[in-house]
Amino acid sequence: MTSSDSAANKRLGSGNELRPETAVQFVKGIGPERARALQAEGIETVRDLLLILPRRYEDRSNLAPIRSLKPGVRNTVCGRIVAVSLKRARRMPIFEAVVEDASGRIKCVFFGQAYLRDSLKVGRRVVLYGAPEWDRFGGGLALHSPDSEILDDGEADPDRVDGALIEAAIHMGRVVPVYEKRAGLLPKIWRRTLTHLVRSLPESFGEPDLLAADLREDLGVVGLRQALSAVHDPGPEDDLSALNSARSRGHLRMILEEFFLFAVGLAAKRLDRRPGVVVPSSDAAREMAKRVLPFPLTAAQKRVLKEIAADLGSGREMSRLLQGDVGSGKTIVAILAMLLPVAAGKQAALVAPTEVLADQHFLTLTRILAPAGVRVLRLSGRMKSKERKEALAAIATGEAPVVIGTHALFEPDVVFRSLALAIIDEQHRFGVIQREELRLKGEGVHALVMTATPIPRTLALSFHGDLDTSVLDEKPPGRLPIRTSHRFDSQRPRIVEAVKRHLGEGRQVYVVCPLVEESEKLADVRAVTELTQAWSDWLPGTKVTALHGRLPRDEKGAAMDSFVRAETQVLVSTTVIEVGVDVPNATLMVIEQAERFGIAQLHQLRGRVGRGRHASECLLVTRAYPSDEAKQRIDALVASEDGFFLAEKDLEIRGPGEFFGTRQSGRGLFQAGDPVRDRELLIRARDLADNWWRTAVPEHPLRRYARSDQWTRRFGLSQVG
Ligand code: ADP
Ligand code: MG
Repeated sequence: MTSSDSAANKRLGSGNELRPETAVQFVKGIGPERARALQAEGIETVRDLLLILPRRYEDRSNLAPIRSLKPGVRNTVCGRIVAVSLKRARRMPIFEAVVEDASGRIKCVFFGQAYLRDSLKVGRRVVLYGAPEWDRFGGGLALHSPDSEILDDGEADPDRVDGALIEAAIHMGRVVPVYEKRAGLLPKIWRRTLTHLVRSLPESFGEPDLLAADLREDLGVVGLRQALSAVHDPGPEDDLSALNSARSRGHLRMILEEFFLFAVGLAAKRLDRRPGVVVPSSDAAREMAKRVLPFPLTAAQKRVLKEIAADLGSGREMSRLLQGDVGSGKTIVAILAMLLPVAAGKQAALVAPTEVLADQHFLTLTRILAPAGVRVLRLSGRMKSKERKEALAAIATGEAPVVIGTHALFEPDVVFRSLALAIIDEQHRFGVIQREELRLKGEGVHALVMTATPIPRTLALSFHGDLDTSVLDEKPPGRLPIRTSHRFDSQRPRIVEAVKRHLGEGRQVYVVCPLVEESEKLADVRAVTELTQAWSDWLPGTKVTALHGRLPRDEKGAAMDSFVRAETQVLVSTTVIEVGVDVPNATLMVIEQAERFGIAQLHQLRGRVGRGRHASECLLVTRAYPSDEAKQRIDALVASEDGFFLAEKDLEIRGPGEFFGTRQSGRGLFQAGDPVRDRELLIRARDLADNWWRTAVPEHPLRRYARSDQWTRRFGLSQVG
């Protein structure tokens, strides 16, 4: 045992070895102060620390001589700083350092980084990584803001006599991992700490492995200790490009372990359901369905209904996601599904994200369910107290078999006699809705979540993986494609002509301006009012009505009603109409300032047209020079009507973090894996996990893990869905 080993052991307490649960302050090189900084970032244990993977790897075994550098080609060089200077150009500080090795010298230019003069001092040895460019002024090559690392900054390992040598062997002369600066710790300190850490892990570290030998074989991965050492301390046998593309054997183990453990937890939720109310598919329900059906169902609608009916009759709680692009006909599926509990004397609820949409669903359901004599009750926030009392009573006694409302239906004073099915429409608008809240409304309530948010299929696995999924992948028959064009503001006369053409054929038109309902300010309201006025002027003799979130509820409802009844021909609206509104006679959607909308929103908005027998059109109006990204979004919309294609594009343009917002970001959820880069691995892990869950012995420790708080803490899914 070396002296440093015994020192580490002393700090750990008598004879304890490093284990995954060991607190970070017991790791060599991490004192109380660094431990506190790490803890503040949620890095509390040795396991947490080891899960921080390098951002990239650099081959420092054969450093390039400075003289051999070529413009535009990334390389790593090492040399001593021989001169430094600090200049200013247009008030911007520019720090320059000249670095020399045996072959020659090169200038390094750092823009706006004056503080570097405190560390990059003459005489110090540095490693530089970057691609040189021709220097605009001095001729010759220069490195612009290269990654730099000082080798001899006196921060040598204090526990070792031969610290300087060991240091050099960690940071040089091999393929080195490069970490991100985090918790105030420089990349170099991360490297030193993790290299020492993996080299000192006991043979038995992480045993018993959650991925036992048979699972490792199925997944084709190496053991944990071997993987950790391969990612944090790669050897000559590890291929640089495999390391940098996260495909080394170490990476594959870390990623597949993470995805597999994640997927096992989802399998536990999905395949181990609690008992649910038994709702049989009865003749009575079929009779009712026949009486109400306004049109023959598409094959996709039939298939999805079968899936739902099977769940309802299964005796286990349903948790199902119905994904269907805008206009794919989710509403009729919801209605027919509700008839199953209704025919059995039980209740069903439909939850909409906005009052406007709840109103609209109420009208549609009342109309469609009338022939079957099914009463539909709308519970709304604008009811007078007497009215509300009566409504609550009807819900409590079961006199109201079908109830529609917003999330206000979850309030504690809403008590159902026998709620069997709750359907949540356009789920993405709820943000973090807790399906659990629904469960409080009755024992074994079945939940169906309907969404048009086009989530790329592979990503859907990671975010809705605990739900069963049904997909409406077919549009109702006779739909004509929506012709989408990009127009500039300057083409206003042409835009007005298009509106007149649609109106002339007896159709209706939406004009949308980019204001988000929740943040509507007075200035925004003025914008809607002005736009409404402008369109009235452009279209003499046409009824143009404004709709925005600041209108009193009654007026909002009245504006919508007037459009539904075709009294209003042009509806000028904010995005309150984004979801669910269904007026088949509307055939033109004009989106003003389209550069301010995201892809998903544009797709949702466009989906308000193309719902009837008439050819529809969408005009995306922008200023003369939209940004590159805005242009890419608009081009995508013009090119395609397929929600999944657009979702992939969106993901490509924005990356997964932005795509899902912070909490739901794939990056936040996973440490080693990246749901976009590693999609195939995610799918493989999920398939294996499902199989495993069906066949593994009941007392397997992984089963316990899948249902444990530890799983929830690691994957934090409690907040998603
Ligand atoms: P979404 O999936 O966006 O909620 P809706 O349920 O509002 O779509 O349906 C869009 C339109 O398509 C509605 O006007 C609806 O009546 C109509 N529709 C739905 N299914 C069919 C079908 N099988 N045949 C004909 N029209 C249908
Ligand atoms: Mg809908």
